[in-house]
Amino acid sequence: MPSDPLVAQHVLEFPGGYTRTTGPVIGRFLSELRARRIVGVRTAEGRVLVPPLEYDPATGEPVTGEYVEVGPAGTVTTSAWVQEPLDDHPLDRPFAWALIALDGADTALVHAVDAGNPKALEPGTRVWPVWRDGPTGHITDISHFVPEVTKIVSNVRAEYRLQAGGALRVFLEGVARGVLLGGRCEQCEKVYVPIRRTCPECGSAIQETREIPDTGTITTFAINNLPDPRAPEVPFVSAYILLDETDIPMIALIGDIPAHEVRQGMRVRAVWVPESERTASMANIRWFAPTGEPDVELS
Ligand SMILES: [Zn+2]
Repeated sequence: MPSDPLVAQHVLEFPGGYTRTTGPVIGRFLSELRARRIVGVRTAEGRVLVPPLEYDPATGEPVTGEYVEVGPAGTVTTSAWVQEPLDDHPLDRPFAWALIALDGADTALVHAVDAGNPKALEPGTRVWPVWRDGPTGHITDISHFVPEVTKIVSNVRAEYRLQAGGALRVFLEGVARGVLLGGRCEQCEKVYVPIRRTCPECGSAIQETREIPDTGTITTFAINNLPDPRAPEVPFVSAYILLDETDIPMIALIGDIPAHEVRQGMRVRAVWVPESERTASMANIRWFAPTGEPDVELS
């Protein structure tokens, strides 16, 4: 599965990322889960963040107070197969961690998908939540997701699937060469990493591909206390990093620094594995490490 390693960075947010904040925004998200509704919060720019955050990672602005019901179904953007689940994992059989773009959301939620086998899951697969009995107001009220049962693939969906696969493949081929590729929307001039085929802001097709620096600034971060096989140690830090010359942050691990010293505005650079070890996967970036440059004031 070509997209497999891309998720390695993202899945680190689960479940630690959900417990990092007890603020009103995540509180609302969790109480809605108890009622079997999934909500996101709208940013000042009109995007819908799921799970909701107090601050828009793209701008640092506080979010609006507007909650938007999303899903419950969604589309898998990337996934990583877990052949041998750990005790902490939500399922006791092989499953996938997946980034799921719930219908109506502009960001993707990390959750487990019970797909049976890795071939049953690919970018573009539609999934539905399986709710747990006796909800408690926790992310695990959604036990996991399952692929949509359908034999009919609409043209639109087939097209999406091809596009998602294509953009991801181009991106990962860049990563294999040690280059991060972004896409620039000619309409609204926003730059996205990884490349996307359509602009989430204005819906235009993205034609222009450009190389993005592997340096950036931490906008928000979460300290994770649950062990994860991909993380260097516990606690470890996952962060939204706004790469230089881009407009939407990406999630990655932070390393080479004690967790409690990580801060917003910190300048970081990708730590790549040696060239001889590189494959077409995000595992090429071990993590991001501080550059030592002065912190950046987040506006
Ligand atoms: Zn655009």
